[in-house]
Amino acid sequence: MKLENLTFKGGVNVPHYKELTENLPIEKAKEPAIVKIPLHQHTGAPCEAMVKVGDSVKVGQKIGESEAFVSAPVHSSVSGTVKEIMDMPIPTGLTVKCVVIESDGKNELHELVRPKGKLEDLSSEEIIEIIREAGITGMGGASFPTHVKLSPPSDKKIDTVLINGAECEPYLTADHRVMAEEAEKVIFGLKAIMKALGVDRGVIGVEKNKPDAIKALKEASQGEENISIATLKVKYPQGDEKRLINAILGRVVPSGGLPMDVGAVVSNASTTRAIAEAILEGKPLIERVTTVTGNGIKNPKNLLVKIGTPFKDLIEECGGFTEDSPGKIIAGGPMMGISQFSIDVPIIKGSGGILVLSKEEAKPEPIQPCIRCGKCLEVCPVKLQPLYISSYTLKKNFDKAEEYNALDCVECGACSYICPAKRPLVESIRLAKREILAKRKAK
Ligand code: SF4
Ligand code: SF4
Repeated sequence: MKLENLTFKGGVNVPHYKELTENLPIEKAKEPAIVKIPLHQHTGAPCEAMVKVGDSVKVGQKIGESEAFVSAPVHSSVSGTVKEIMDMPIPTGLTVKCVVIESDGKNELHELVRPKGKLEDLSSEEIIEIIREAGITGMGGASFPTHVKLSPPSDKKIDTVLINGAECEPYLTADHRVMAEEAEKVIFGLKAIMKALGVDRGVIGVEKNKPDAIKALKEASQGEENISIATLKVKYPQGDEKRLINAILGRVVPSGGLPMDVGAVVSNASTTRAIAEAILEGKPLIERVTTVTGNGIKNPKNLLVKIGTPFKDLIEECGGFTEDSPGKIIAGGPMMGISQFSIDVPIIKGSGGILVLSKEEAKPEPIQPCIRCGKCLEVCPVKLQPLYISSYTLKKNFDKAEEYNALDCVECGACSYICPAKRPLVESIRLAKREILAKRKAK
């Protein structure tokens, strides 16, 4: 089967604004003086601190752990001294316990950071344990612990591993640069996932607007009979994992279901590279590539950044703001990102980008009454009826919003983007989801 120009039904064509950074090679960010490492930056249980104020730590040392299966340990990204352990806001909007470490600038490696052996000699269980110990979580946004994804129940037969290289969010180019510059590691990571799951088919899906990444991946996978590169049409939200599965495999994940229900496991491209580093170098997830971009930033860049580095340091490293004050700062992209009220928040495992909009770009547009044009229904990739869910939510009728399958919304924002009346559709659906889940939990 030809894996070219694939796509899904619905979605929108959004201007991608990637030209600011798409051709800029990854640069190593300056050493941060202080890192603030959250003990809860993943889906699942928070970690307990394994260090106390005054302790010396090394690069790669585990500083937080949980006994829960759905969780992921956290590690120090610098060598230095623990200064504080306290509650702080993080880019997800939550306030969580963070370990504040002052770097000594020496970057002394912890003794456990060492290669884990040849992939051919590692068993499936050993690969999954290396990934768990390295604290690897999805780096595309949801930060779901990867070892959990790689441990499906025995009744779920997985036949394909998909690597998500769509990066459909406007402005962001971190995954793009990782695939273009470190394609060998992405292929190695894919082979490790395939071995962990006992699967002999791997496909990397990349949107067509990343020709250098596609070329690099094709070259790096030459001779790998079980691995193919699929090119995807440029359309939002192609990077949503269920849309990726539909575009590449033609399968539909049922409402409320998971990729494993249709025989697939999906891993983000940067996560897959992190898996390669965990095996080849024994390196836990202590750094990532983050795009610092937007018309509100003087010198946009793709930076290799230590987890825990404050946004402020990276904004300064990129020349600061273009105006006296920024219009809007977003953790992530404009469609699914989260507005920030402080630049003291730290980079976390899921931080794909820092977007700074100018004051002009950030001006809110007036909200008008719905004109029943139906455009939000047309673009919804999940085939929801955003206008009805939103309207019931605004009337606080969350039971009705649930009947309209609000929980299936992937919060892609395509409906809000297309709405000519500028209705706050995704915002109200997010609220409905929170209320429905809170009600279920209370029951
Ligand atoms: S796109 Fe906006 S105006 Fe059109 S039907 Fe949906 S909510 Fe109403
Ligand atoms: S309803 Fe949800 S899934 Fe559908 S377009 Fe809007 S944000 Fe995306």
